[in-house]
Amino acid sequence: MTESAQAATSGAQTIPLRDPATGECDGQLAVVSKAEVDRIAQRLRAAQADWAALDVHNRCDALLAFADALERHREPMVEALLRDTGRWQESQIEVDSTVGALRRWAADAPALLQAPEPVASSMGFLHSRQNLVPYELVGVISPWNFPLLLSLIDAIPALAAGCAVLCKPSEVTSRFASVLDDVMAEVPALQPVFAVVTGGGSTGEAVIGAVDTICFTGSVRTGRRVGEACAARFIPCSLELGGKDPALVLADADPVRSARAIAWGGFVNGGQSCMSIERVYVDAKIAEPFIAALVETAKSLKLTHPEPREGQIGPIISAAQIAIVREQLADAKKRGARALAGGELIEHGGTWCPPTVLVDVDESMRIASEESFATILPVMVVANEEEAIKRANDSIFGLSAAVFSGDTEHAARVASRLHAGGVSINDACLTGMIHTAEKQSFKQSGLGGSRMGSVSIRRFVRSQAVLVNSGVDDPWWFPATT
Ligand code: NAD
Repeated sequence: MTESAQAATSGAQTIPLRDPATGECDGQLAVVSKAEVDRIAQRLRAAQADWAALDVHNRCDALLAFADALERHREPMVEALLRDTGRWQESQIEVDSTVGALRRWAADAPALLQAPEPVASSMGFLHSRQNLVPYELVGVISPWNFPLLLSLIDAIPALAAGCAVLCKPSEVTSRFASVLDDVMAEVPALQPVFAVVTGGGSTGEAVIGAVDTICFTGSVRTGRRVGEACAARFIPCSLELGGKDPALVLADADPVRSARAIAWGGFVNGGQSCMSIERVYVDAKIAEPFIAALVETAKSLKLTHPEPREGQIGPIISAAQIAIVREQLADAKKRGARALAGGELIEHGGTWCPPTVLVDVDESMRIASEESFATILPVMVVANEEEAIKRANDSIFGLSAAVFSGDTEHAARVASRLHAGGVSINDACLTGMIHTAEKQSFKQSGLGGSRMGSVSIRRFVRSQAVLVNSGVDDPWWFPATT
């Protein structure tokens, strides 16, 4: 039984679960209390030392067993994610990516966790060794846009490193947790060191109070509170937060290819990816064909209603986000923006944002400066590359970006001037496709070490220096006094 199910049967508080495709509340989520979080954390801590003492290959075997079990439960997991998010195609990709991440870390972790060779010092009788000491208990707090993947993306390397993990998914999309529980029931080696607790902000706060380091994915607003709470407890945190990713379409770019890539980057997952393209700066010299191709592509995409297994654009998952998108669209229109495609939310029980292309937009409008998390592409025409770079950088966010140009090296030079942790060239959202490239979030988009790349596993261990005197007696003894 999941920790949340146990809480439900013990008369805990609950939060209504809303189906994003119908808009109906069709379930209740148990809120795990602080006392229960503390009890579970204690249990995980008690098991962690044995887990860390295992050979890393044994821990990786457990991750492989996890991957196999998740694959056996692929169908019910996709169904649960479909009800959590209203998405069918993306939910399949989400499960497959998670299986892939488990197998990738199981293959890579042994080499990455090998202690470095001893280092000789300039004094022959001294040398140092390095131990990598895992944190006992890692807390993971995740958002609603990829419920399974973002609950496990940090948990997997943390487990490989020898930590125990306590995970709290978003209260908006927690149905998948009961299927995850069925998966874990088939992986006995992990049960003592991995637990999921359900609930909202209060459960998240309890998790922060119970662990030794936090991996948080979510909004800047909550991330700031999480960072402050971690600072008060003097524990490290890794914050992966929101973005308003710009795409720069330079004068020598192919307008049609750029438009199709940007449409994909802005509209895939219903625009509900942190690295979605959310604003476009196009050089005036190619603005006309670019905008025409973007509008044509936007109009060719279909909603996933009434059949979730057809169409490309899913519903807005979070009820709170619907209100934000509606306000941003109203603000943009009031200030003179024009929709060349889409532009109005559509109600089918759930709420959909049809692929929207806005022109006559500028950054004084909320839609061009605040995160929308929806299928909306505000397009701003610029006089030249310098203006595009300046306006792209004029943002509180710095998650990722994209540059389109006929000359890859030129695009790379422009990329190096952008204040963003990952820049795709002649494509969009490549940070979601390539997980091996190290990247940090710039500005308010995050804090801490890279989540991507093999180096990311180092967030879960501390370096301990072991300094050895191999045989000289009293080398530093007090000088003789008269
Ligand atoms: P959110 O900040 O509202 O919630 C995220 C999580 O924090 C949830 O589990 C929530 O219950 C929990 N929480 C709320 N208050 C808390 C508190 N006081 N203490 C501890 N936990 C608390 O974010 P959301 O709306 O679920 O997710 C959307 C956001 O996530 C967007 O801004 C998006 O850009 C961002 N995101 C970032 C990345 C990335 O890698 N940078 C990836 C995905 C999503």
